[in-house]
Amino acid sequence: MGGTAWVTLATNDSYALGALVVANSLKRVNTVHDLAILITPGVTLAMKNELLRVFNFVKEVDVFDSRDETNLRLLARPDLGITFTKIHAWRLTQYSKCVFLDADVLIVQNCDELFDREELSAAPDAGWPDCFNSGVFVFKPSDSTYNALVDFALVNGSFDGGDQGLLNLYFSNWSTADSSKRLPFVYNMCSTSTYSYLPALKQFGSKVKIIHFIGSSKPWLQHFDSSTRIITSGDSHLTNFLQLWWDVFVVHVHPTLT
Ligand code: UDP
Ligand code: MN
Repeated sequence: MGGTAWVTLATNDSYALGALVVANSLKRVNTVHDLAILITPGVTLAMKNELLRVFNFVKEVDVFDSRDETNLRLLARPDLGITFTKIHAWRLTQYSKCVFLDADVLIVQNCDELFDREELSAAPDAGWPDCFNSGVFVFKPSDSTYNALVDFALVNGSFDGGDQGLLNLYFSNWSTADSSKRLPFVYNMCSTSTYSYLPALKQFGSKVKIIHFIGSSKPWLQHFDSSTRIITSGDSHLTNFLQLWWDVFVVHVHPTLT
């Protein structure tokens, strides 16, 4: 009891590759916190074994597990499957505090200080800054919060069909209450900012601590030239970050894959 962990999520092997890069990017900057991951039966056994090598804790969750009463209630809303899988993070009660990270982020600089923040701390979403982006958030595992989130989700659903809509409705005073819960954007720099505000990226890009590759062009879908080890596609303003993602993949992840 009482430990602290970074928590990510993968429901298939593609996102699991992303999760392996997330984990290795955290090790690269010498984090002191544990690494935990939630997976579903969609992750292959071979990949699960890779994850077990890198993460301190691998938890298989299944929202359709009828042996569990709370899970049973989730059967009513199969459309919110991945969303519900993310809120399973609140059940990691062996930890006293956690930071959730989407599997499509990359840690660029050490940010262990995030664990000094309280639930629910997150950075503004680039599309609607009065909402937080749910790709990076500080939370406190608790069975009662988990149950409250499930109850809330069953009644209210999610206005965007995903976890971000649900969590923003549940933690609805995020933008107006305690300003310490509003993380600086450098803790969740959404990749779309490169076209929405390029001068800011040029000015502040070197301060980025976590880059979040939101949207459909995930790093693992980019073209990478394995002979030169250079990334050859993607938004040119993101080349340095995409290259770093691939460098971590090539050096730390690829050699261990069987
Ligand atoms: N995710 C997953 N499998 C999926 C879709 C999403 O495991 O098929 C997880 C993964 O951790 C991912 C997160 O849910 O990072 C949120 O989805 P995504 O990052 O694709 O959304 P975006 O940040 O682009 O809105
Ligand atoms: Mn994401």
